[in-house]
Amino acid sequence: MLTWYRIRYLKGLNQSHVTTLAPASVFHFTKLIILIPIPVVHDFYGLENTMRSFLYGFMMGRYGPDHLGVGLVILSFVLSICYAVFGYLPFLFISYFTFALTLFRMLSRNLKKRRAENDIFIRYWWPVKVRCQKFFKRVKEFFTHKRFKCPKCKTKLRVPRGVGKLRITCTKCDEKIFKKS
Ligand SMILES: [Zn+2]
Repeated sequence: MLTWYRIRYLKGLNQSHVTTLAPASVFHFTKLIILIPIPVVHDFYGLENTMRSFLYGFMMGRYGPDHLGVGLVILSFVLSICYAVFGYLPFLFISYFTFALTLFRMLSRNLKKRRAENDIFIRYWWPVKVRCQKFFKRVKEFFTHKRFKCPKCKTKLRVPRGVGKLRITCTKCDEKIFKKS
């Protein structure tokens, strides 16, 4: 799969404008032939399979990505942006550290410990996520629906906007309310 190409690299040869005190014999060895390996892909799918099987073997028995991993990568990204904006160096260091930690966790063979870490992360992250989802849903609904509380039982009610005056019946206590939507 590797094809070797010969590349002639000429250095300092016939450069009359360069004045030097070195004897002419020095330039005898400056004509170099450098061999550089350039991979030539003859069989793309074969290469893809090779890479895939290598990766599969490499990741065998290792932990891989999880919720905490994704969270850490996002944190690392946010911190690097913070460094770019504020120019505060510790942001960059913490960003690197976070990324290194993510890699370490992905390549770790101690699955039990990594799973325990992920469980702790999910336990604290899940309520925050649900609250965020509720908040964004409410922001979206603000433009299409109007919310208010039933004066009697404090149930939260929701009606579409821009329909005019409405007589609303509370879903819980059947209280009749007149409201402008
Ligand atoms: Zn009610």
